[in-house]
Order: sequence, then C-alpha cells, then structure tokens
Amino acid sequence: MKNIGAERPPPGTENPEDSIWQEHSPRGIETLPAKLERYASARVRSLEMVDYLRTLAKPTDSHLSRNVDQQRALDASIRLCSCGEWITLRHYYSVDQLRLIAANFCQQSKLCPLCAIRRGSRNMAVYLERYAFIKAQKPTLQPFLVTLTVKNGLDLLERIKHLKTAVRRCIDARRQALTGNKSGHTIFKEFSAGIGAFEITNTGKGWHPHVHFIILAETMPDQERLSREWLKRTKDSYIVDVRAIDQVNPASGFCEVFKYAMKFQGMSCENNWTAYCNLRGQHLLISFGDFYGVKLPEKLEDDCLDDLPYIDLFYRYLVGSSAYTLVKDELHISAAQVGIAVGPAEGGNGDPTAPAATRVRPNLGDAHVRYD
Ligand SMILES: [Zn+2]
Repeated sequence: MKNIGAERPPPGTENPEDSIWQEHSPRGIETLPAKLERYASARVRSLEMVDYLRTLAKPTDSHLSRNVDQQRALDASIRLCSCGEWITLRHYYSVDQLRLIAANFCQQSKLCPLCAIRRGSRNMAVYLERYAFIKAQKPTLQPFLVTLTVKNGLDLLERIKHLKTAVRRCIDARRQALTGNKSGHTIFKEFSAGIGAFEITNTGKGWHPHVHFIILAETMPDQERLSREWLKRTKDSYIVDVRAIDQVNPASGFCEVFKYAMKFQGMSCENNWTAYCNLRGQHLLISFGDFYGVKLPEKLEDDCLDDLPYIDLFYRYLVGSSAYTLVKDELHISAAQVGIAVGPAEGGNGDPTAPAATRVRPNLGDAHVRYD
C-alpha cells in the first residue's frame, strides 16, 4: 500500500491536489507570487472555456434567436468571463497571514478553475477541523483513502447514477448493520466516518466516474473484502483501492478527496461543458458516520481576522500578459494599533517578504493609508 502525502511535490506544480494543498495551507506573504500565478493559470483556462462557449452560443437560425442550450452557454460564459477579473488580497502583516478577501466569483465550480480551487480548499478546511475533533474524542481511529470505481460508459448520467446508487447501498447497509435492523455483513460498519467526493474523468474511453473517500477506522480496511462487497453492490464493478494516509500530515491525504472540483479542468472544454450540463445542481460530496452533518461554507472568500492591522492589495487580471497586476494597495490601521503594529518608522526592515522576525513594518511605498 502506498503511503500518501509522504512525498508531496514542491509548490508550483499545477495538478489538482497541489492546487488545493497550496490554497489550503495558511501562508505568509512569501506565497504571494505563487498564489497570483495559480489564480492566473486558472483564469487562462477559464478564458479558453469562454471562447468555446461563445462559439456554442452563436445562433444558428435565420432569426438570430438562441435555443435553450445556446442561451445556457452564453449565460455561463458571461459569468465565467468576469470571474476573477479582479481580486483583493489582505495581508495581516503583524502575523504574516495572506488571505483572499474579495473577488467577483462566478460560483460555477464545475466549470471554473478559480471557484473550484476555492471551493475545494474551503471544504477541506472544515472537514480537517471535524477530523481533529473526532480524533480528539477517538484517538485510535486512523484515516484511510478508499476509492471505489465503476466501469466506463458513454452515458455520463447513467454511470454517475449507477455509482451513486451503489454507494448509497453501502451506506444504508452500514446503518442497518449498526442499528441491528439487519444482520447483513458489511465492511462499512467498521468505518466510524466517511467523507467522499464523486469525480468524473474522460480520457477518450468513455466516462469514468469514481468516488474517493476518506474513511476513519481502527485498522486498514481489507481491500479484497471491500472489492467483494463492491461487486455485490454494483453487480458489474469490483475495482477498489485502499491506501494509508500520512498520520503526521493528514491534510495531504484529504487533498486527494477535495481536488474533485478541479478534475473537470483536466478535460477538454467540450467534455467539461458536457459534464457541467449533466451534473449541474448535483451534490458531489457524500458523508456518513462522524463526518455526517458538517456545514459547508457558502462563501469562497477567506475569513477575516479581527483587530489586526492589514494592507489590502487590489489586483486586476490583464489578458495581454495573462497575469495579475497590482493596481492599488491600502493600509488599514486603527489609532490603537499605530504604535504596536507598525513599529518604528525608521530603522526597521520594510521588506514585506522578509522573515516575520525581521519584519517591523510593511513596505508602504506609495500605498494609500487609512486610519480606521
Ligand atoms: Zn468562477
């Protein structure tokens, strides 16, 4: 069994796990360039999709009217085109915390990489919090990554429905076994908790839906037993995978689940749009046991910190350079914070990327200063 997370590649790569991993981790100002690069890469893909959707949205009849599908493509392209045009990052320089506090998100996370990165990392944060809570109550539980797959098919809706039905059967069997309503043998009753994300891939051999679960159990699930039960539930599929997760750093394993929204961006624009149209409105997360009932954050922005001075950095995306450029920065500081947070006006290291221990005040440059 492979131990996930022990060999996480360095920041800067662009696979979905790394994007979620980097976005999740609370980071200081030194991560600013990589963050902007990540958002810019997402926007490049979004604009490719906008071009594709505009082509789809062109009226084909002589009256220049759009049918329902063309209008849907046009509406999605308009929202996608404006998503991430500008973003506001906030640097709490006294504690070196960089947060995304505003952007015009389109909320189409099955279509938009920027919204997908934010959705995945925000959801992962609340489940990691729940995991820490459960682990404190039941320290003998360990997290494992369990993947269940069904055979490829050409009908995406049929395949995803088949997968979801089989997963639901497993969860129902667990509940019935634990409540004593049925004496059925199911490996799922050995799992204290599970949070799973449905993923879809298409590499030219039809749609391949599968689900990645983080499950909590006393011992590693037996893969052969799980495979036999999965075949019983699906009638046609037996391929499953069970892996240990790095106990010291479980977040790296959780990335495998919460990258789900990002996987759409691995498809062609055509397949991504087909998947989006088929899965619009569908929940792609499923939970049971101690992971059930976690309230997911609605907003995609980071939470703000109270009572700390900060500098807001306003960025706009420039199509010509495919990059974000700083258009304004603004220091916010209360009268009570003047002496303690900004520090001496002279003699300090004003470099905002300097290590926290040596950073006395931010490099204001031409920043606008507001005393709140
Ligand atoms: Zn978006």
